[in-house]
Amino acid sequence: MTVTEPILQIRDLVKYHDTKGGRVHAVDHIDLDLFPGETLGLVGESGCGKSTLGRTIIRLHEPTSGQILYRGQDIAHLSRNDLRPVRRDLQIVFQDPFASLNPRRTVRQILSEPFSVHGVGTKAERSEQVNDLIAQVGLHPSFAERFPHELSGGQRQRIAIARAIALEPSTVVCDEPVSALDVSVQAQIINLLGQLQADMGAAYVFISHDLSVIGYLADRIAVMYLGEIVEIAPKWALWRRPLHPYTQALFSAIAIPEPPSKARKHRIIIQGDIPSPIDPPSGCRFRTRCPHAMPICSEKSPKLTEVGDGAKVACHLVNDA
Ligand code: SF4
Repeated sequence: MTVTEPILQIRDLVKYHDTKGGRVHAVDHIDLDLFPGETLGLVGESGCGKSTLGRTIIRLHEPTSGQILYRGQDIAHLSRNDLRPVRRDLQIVFQDPFASLNPRRTVRQILSEPFSVHGVGTKAERSEQVNDLIAQVGLHPSFAERFPHELSGGQRQRIAIARAIALEPSTVVCDEPVSALDVSVQAQIINLLGQLQADMGAAYVFISHDLSVIGYLADRIAVMYLGEIVEIAPKWALWRRPLHPYTQALFSAIAIPEPPSKARKHRIIIQGDIPSPIDPPSGCRFRTRCPHAMPICSEKSPKLTEVGDGAKVACHLVNDA
């Protein structure tokens, strides 16, 4: 059996933001692998650090420390110049397509930009590639001459996706790509992302606060809480048996059209607000809201530990059982 090498290996990655109120622990010592062609879902409440993690691993944010190995090369601290050849391989689709598209440029100009920035093709070839991209994301050729304000939210997100895939990247971070869209349009965009991935074989990091949205595309799911990964598992394993109390609470809040696991039979209400990432709780960061917290939980930070089925969990209840 050949073992596929990860395309991205994140090692002990840290991203802190210094603010007036103190140091925000947005991403705190995270290890993660991303394999070619897979979709890794990243889920957690707003403010848990998932967007910061997504942006840091493609170097939109400067990491505080740690390694980002892309095809074996550590890109965590590469200069802007040295990063250039890698940049085209690592793309992002943002939540708000209106904010991410230049309002003064036509769709043709927006989609030509990745080719001109990276010096790909002649003018005539670029024009042809733009036409192909517009067709690939399911829009009529006439959209090329329109401006972003002339498009609906779903059409704008299609253009943002076309721009992200223009240079056939190996990795695309999809940062809440459907949360700003009408529910009726969300499924179309998710289907489009799935179709494009099947065609081009890129790996996705699909970020969402909504586990049910993540469930459509993800092969594996990582659950984040206050800057840390508390559970990571293949989707089928997580669906069958979420182990971390926080994951169980997330699952209990959604309706999944599959046999409910024991943990999903009743709604688990997480008490209290998410603590400040400036001063996270000692030991397990979830302990202030966990219905199963024990004395050890405030003293010792649980490590992300393998528990079988390709799953890893960071919880004393599971790891020390
Ligand atoms: Fe709850 Fe303790 Fe597990 Fe944290 S380590 S999730 S507080 S049982």
